[in-house]
Amino acid sequence: MAVLDPHTPHQLVRDIQSLLTRNRNILVRWIKAHTGYRGNEEADALAKKAITEGVVMKALNPRCELKQHLQELFFKKWQNLWNNGNTGRSVHKVLKTVNLKPDFWTREESLFVTGHGLFPSFFNHFYLSDSDSCACGEIGDPIHYATSCPLTLSWQIRKSSTSLESLGFQRVLENPNSRKRIINKIKFIMTTKI
Ligand SMILES: [Zn+2]
Repeated sequence: MAVLDPHTPHQLVRDIQSLLTRNRNILVRWIKAHTGYRGNEEADALAKKAITEGVVMKALNPRCELKQHLQELFFKKWQNLWNNGNTGRSVHKVLKTVNLKPDFWTREESLFVTGHGLFPSFFNHFYLSDSDSCACGEIGDPIHYATSCPLTLSWQIRKSSTSLESLGFQRVLENPNSRKRIINKIKFIMTTKI
């Protein structure tokens, strides 16, 4: 009997439970139907009325619907934080949409996208070096090594007409050949002091 369930999600049953708790003189027990009990006849009449006229009821949303709603709110908030954050901006250019699925990158690819590697720009950013310049004279960041540094010419990829920084990271990672070049380039930088 639903009324005995203390965890019932149905509001109507909860209302009945509440009435029974407040009115200890009400006794709930089984009786034979359609034999002239006044209360039972009344309940039958009301039930029929509800069927023909309809009744307004408060109903809780199913749990799965609430879970889905909460998940949507969570992702919306997370996406908003990710879009407007101050850190991880280079990763944001590649992974624009938040997702619970892991994206598998090699160590070299991670270093390339985050810029957290043996790059002069990285050392300079964290005050580990006075200069952010590559040995060739230009700013030594991942984009430079990927597109224009004469010292990493063998692994360079063609600079896109639009800014490589905004679009190129993504293109590079979508293309298996470019990915291979980036991995080799980063390995080279890690083993050679440029
Ligand atoms: Zn250079």
